[in-house]
Amino acid sequence: MEQKIDIKSMSLQQLTDQLIQMGEKKFRAAQIYSWIHQKLVTNFDEMTNISKNTRTMLKEQFELVCLKQVACKISSIDGTRKYLFGLSDGHVIESVLMRYHHGNSVCISSQVGCRMGCRFCASTLDGLSRNLRPSEMLDQIYRIQQDIGERISNVVVMGSGEPLDNYENLISFLRLLTDANGLGISQRNITVSTCGLVPEMYRFAEENLQITLALSLHASNNEVRKTLMPIANRYALTEVLKACDNYFEKTGRRITFEYSLVKGVNDGQKQADELAELIGNRNCHINLIPVNPIKERDFVQTDAKNVNNFKKLLEKKRINVTIRREMGRDIDGACGQLRKRYMDQLKEENRDGGICTDRCRKDASD
Ligand code: SF4
Repeated sequence: MEQKIDIKSMSLQQLTDQLIQMGEKKFRAAQIYSWIHQKLVTNFDEMTNISKNTRTMLKEQFELVCLKQVACKISSIDGTRKYLFGLSDGHVIESVLMRYHHGNSVCISSQVGCRMGCRFCASTLDGLSRNLRPSEMLDQIYRIQQDIGERISNVVVMGSGEPLDNYENLISFLRLLTDANGLGISQRNITVSTCGLVPEMYRFAEENLQITLALSLHASNNEVRKTLMPIANRYALTEVLKACDNYFEKTGRRITFEYSLVKGVNDGQKQADELAELIGNRNCHINLIPVNPIKERDFVQTDAKNVNNFKKLLEKKRINVTIRREMGRDIDGACGQLRKRYMDQLKEENRDGGICTDRCRKDASD
């Protein structure tokens, strides 16, 4: 059987060209695009101003990707919601909604799993299964916006996966998400996080986008970074920082450095001094994150007092630094942990990838 075309991953121009080729009028493409990317419909029959014949043709030729909500956990502390979404091939991915005064922010996954192997991360424990398509990245945001009935204003690509390892799909996703004919989310309200894939960082700087780049730094020198992140064996800190400087020069967007504090590993005075030295007078921002412990690793979270001390040490050196507020502490804090637990449970029950919706809904409310 011929594979259907993934209509949600197509730009308006691509869709227009395709439909004209199929004998449709140009304006139909704009109507259909608006149903998909503004009204966020989940099937072709909801497109009420499209004739029945055209809808039948659409169903035959195109696939309209729509994620299935498998579970949703809601924090009783701050209203953060963690979603598990099922993909059409049986995989599940995790997305998070965080509610701030300035608006609703969604953290999305860019891959199923991850192959980067960061030692503190639950998303990488089972490796990479596959890349997500632009439609599958978009639909995490669309389904959450529909679920809460409120506009999503900010997006962070910081969930499972290394976004720059799924480069082409990431760029298509970003262009669709910021398209004025779609949700039209401001580029300045989007952050892409990378563990430091240097060639792709240079490429990203040339895309003419105003997206914030966040670098997972997590160490003040190469030796410690290598113990936490295998990617540090490929690219030295000097190379990674040079790529960050280039991004800032090309886009004017200030880099965010993410620094997860691990007790006894990277949270001492020596590391704070070294970090200040490394960063120097760059126009940037450091985000301190008390590492979220995962049971498969023996990393311990730096306690609140030491996190504050570390922050003060950096401030003394005139570094722009904040401590990331822990959102949804009561609902499987670490990135990828909810998904990991769900997958382990499936394996235990000897299920081969099928998604048991009722069971998961029950688990989610436990
Ligand atoms: S921290 Fe990010 S890049 Fe590293 S393993 Fe986890 S998902 Fe992958």
